[in-house]
Amino acid sequence: MSDLANERIVYLNGRYVPESEALVPFRDRSFLYGDGAFDMTRTFAHRMFRLEQHLERFARSLRYLGLDPGLSMAELADISREVLRRNLHLLDEHDDYWVGQRVSRGIRRFPGDRWEQDGPTVIVECMPLPLAERALHYRDGIRVVTPATRRTPPDALSPRAKTHNYLNLIVAEREAHAQDAGAWAVLLDERGHLCEGLGSNIFLVRDGALLTPRERMVLPGISRAVVIELAERLAIPCREGDLDLYDAATADEAFLTSTSLCLCPVVQINGQPVGDGRPYGPVTRRLTDAYAELAGCDFVAQYLRHLG
Ligand code: PMP
Repeated sequence: MSDLANERIVYLNGRYVPESEALVPFRDRSFLYGDGAFDMTRTFAHRMFRLEQHLERFARSLRYLGLDPGLSMAELADISREVLRRNLHLLDEHDDYWVGQRVSRGIRRFPGDRWEQDGPTVIVECMPLPLAERALHYRDGIRVVTPATRRTPPDALSPRAKTHNYLNLIVAEREAHAQDAGAWAVLLDERGHLCEGLGSNIFLVRDGALLTPRERMVLPGISRAVVIELAERLAIPCREGDLDLYDAATADEAFLTSTSLCLCPVVQINGQPVGDGRPYGPVTRRLTDAYAELAGCDFVAQYLRHLG
């Protein structure tokens, strides 16, 4: 028998239920077609970070797909806070959660169907961050591989929307893992420009300046925006542009950003060392420190704790 008191609570279509009871019918269109969108923030010291910006991006993803969740973003913010509140007692004091909002186009009923629902499926959930699994990256840095599978072009499906369809990124990451099981994929676009990874944006540093792929080609990461903001504050020049493998090979430093990573150094791209091949060059270090200060959490120490 499952121990309901130790089970996380999830919001599903108006109700707060244990995760094991939050079941989505197989005719749900996110299951059938990936027809839905989501967003995901994280907590620092158990408090959500930039929830508003995440929900603004979520609203844009939903508009792009023509999806009406039947709830305002303010209501989704309240529900997110409530989901977090109901689950905090399950979290170790040093750990943190992802908090995610998901909307599927749901079920379209056909004659004879017995589904109760016709319309969107709305979920708000949380999950502990994979701190232990990723801890080594904060000591040793991340190895990046650029697979042959190219990022879906924005004319086909815009990467700026965070949809439930991650197949392009999943296929590419599987390819990267076949080359190096511990590496992270960063996809190129059809013209060979760096784009993004399965859940991360990339930055290069050259001659003290930051370079990052153009927003049209990637998900505009909230952590990417934080880094751009911090760079401005620290007077580090930052430019969006078309970056290719030459730029990667000649970079002095590189790092990935994401909600869960915040900012994590890259030490190798396609087997070639980035700069001197060691993590935390001067610009990466300054931005890491500034990010931690802004978030009010030394996330590097939080990850490294898990190395024991
Ligand atoms: N690109 C993709 C495809 C992602 O899924 C994510 C994770 N949301 C990111 C970039 C990084 O975005 P963020 O900093 O908002 O987590």
